[in-house]
Amino acid sequence: MFDALAERLEEAWKKLKGQDKISKTNIQDALQEVRRALLSADVNLQVVKDFIAEVETKAQGAEVVSGVRPDQQFIKIVYDELVEVMGETNVPLAQAETAPTVVLMAGLQGTGKTTATAKLALHLRKENRTCLMVATDVYRPAAIDQLVTLGQQIEVPVFELGTDTNPVEIARQGIAKAKEMGVDTVIIDTAGRLFIDEAMMGELVQIKNTVKPHEVLLVVDSMTGQEAANLTRTFHEKIGITGAILTKLDGDTRGGAALSVRRISGQPIKFVGVGEKVEALQPFYPDRMASRILG
Ligand code: GDP
Repeated sequence: MFDALAERLEEAWKKLKGQDKISKTNIQDALQEVRRALLSADVNLQVVKDFIAEVETKAQGAEVVSGVRPDQQFIKIVYDELVEVMGETNVPLAQAETAPTVVLMAGLQGTGKTTATAKLALHLRKENRTCLMVATDVYRPAAIDQLVTLGQQIEVPVFELGTDTNPVEIARQGIAKAKEMGVDTVIIDTAGRLFIDEAMMGELVQIKNTVKPHEVLLVVDSMTGQEAANLTRTFHEKIGITGAILTKLDGDTRGGAALSVRRISGQPIKFVGVGEKVEALQPFYPDRMASRILG
């Protein structure tokens, strides 16, 4: 495991050999290698700095256990810290005491929000939960059509009122419809723009205040790398997220965005998207992601 990092630590660990403690001076090269590994996995620079400082504190003073190579011991400290920062375990989707559970999807256009809405609905359906998806992206008729098509494909109903009704009103009526139908979860797909803008945020806040969601999931494209941090910060400040879905992890990124998103929002990543197909959604596991980030 972590062959790439272990290889890079080869030189650094020679300095640790024969030492009985990991100290501030003998650890610097090793920390530098971890820094490089995290940056090449697209973890945000500030997040990397903070993380390295924490690992340095934890590693300092650690006894070099006889029979254990200090580099392996060090990698274990880094790995454990990564898992801890990313939340240790999978956090499942919230479930309201009184149905329906309301899930609000947020994110920029093209991140995979509409696809993730359907993926989540299918995931819940497989757990014998019933869903209604609500299409509120009135600015792009194609987005509504896309959700309707996905709904037919996975046999989950879609509530839509075309493009002439205010998104807040569509969301409100969507909840009423869900109650009438007796479904246990409503997933509201919202409009995304290519860049964060005030109008989009204002609309999201209004929808949120109206539907009072149990979950606000930020959909983040893992390929956006460093930018994932700014995006998360802005969305979290403006609307307050309760979790995230990291998409496009089937791409060649090592997934450092996971660390940035968690660190900046303090909220768990709940699922990962691993392909274009509607089945391609998996629960997020911090230990698996830590292994992937370390390479
Ligand atoms: P939205 O604008 O945020 O609603 O994005 P869409 O759901 O329309 O997705 C944008 C594009 O990304 C589409 O071509 C999707 O098929 C693709 N996509 C979404 N999720 C994933 C994923 O996890 N992996 C890959 N490879 N493609 C994805």
